[in-house]
Amino acid sequence: MPVTEVRHPLVLHKLSYLRDRDTPTVHFRKIVEEVAYLLTYEATKDLPTEDVEIETPLEVTPVPRISGKKVAVCPILRAGLGMLDGVLDLISGARVGFIGLYRDEATLQPVEYYVKLPQDVADRDVILLDPMLATGNSTAHAVKIVKEAGAASVRLIAIIAAPEGIERVTSEFPDVRIVVAAIDRGLNERGYIVPGLGDAGDRLYGTK
Ligand code: URA
Repeated sequence: MPVTEVRHPLVLHKLSYLRDRDTPTVHFRKIVEEVAYLLTYEATKDLPTEDVEIETPLEVTPVPRISGKKVAVCPILRAGLGMLDGVLDLISGARVGFIGLYRDEATLQPVEYYVKLPQDVADRDVILLDPMLATGNSTAHAVKIVKEAGAASVRLIAIIAAPEGIERVTSEFPDVRIVVAAIDRGLNERGYIVPGLGDAGDRLYGTK
């Protein structure tokens, strides 16, 4: 499955403000939403459509509509929540699932503390949201959760990815489609993406 790095000028421009340490929380939060919106456009471009017949004011005509299964958007708490409204602005009928994971700072392994998925997730295409695909451990864990629940397909929208995280997820789950705004140089000794944007959760919620 391809990894898509969206190099659209609007995305690049907005990302530059997310990276800037002087961008205040109020703007950071808004821009995360906007970038998520733009990445959703790319991440959904392969959703299948089927023709349905409708009546315009002038005549009956076949028009393409997204077919079959529906979408479940699943933010990985807490930072993924910051992307949710941007995605729902485009896919307003989506159901929402929540996956609560935190990273054990010593082992960098994910610890699961809350999972609530739509009951019919097995009939849905899942879009996971996590702004930072760093080691990939949390994302891989989240992919495992939604796949075990039967998700029809899994996409991940992240804002910045490290090559290590992409490798971790794609080697275990080659069928997961990943859409990001940027693929950065790598991880530092604390597992942060460099140059990155820092701790996305802290910057979204002003907790540091
Ligand atoms: N999580 C973040 O919020 N930032 C990183 O750089 C890595 C993981």
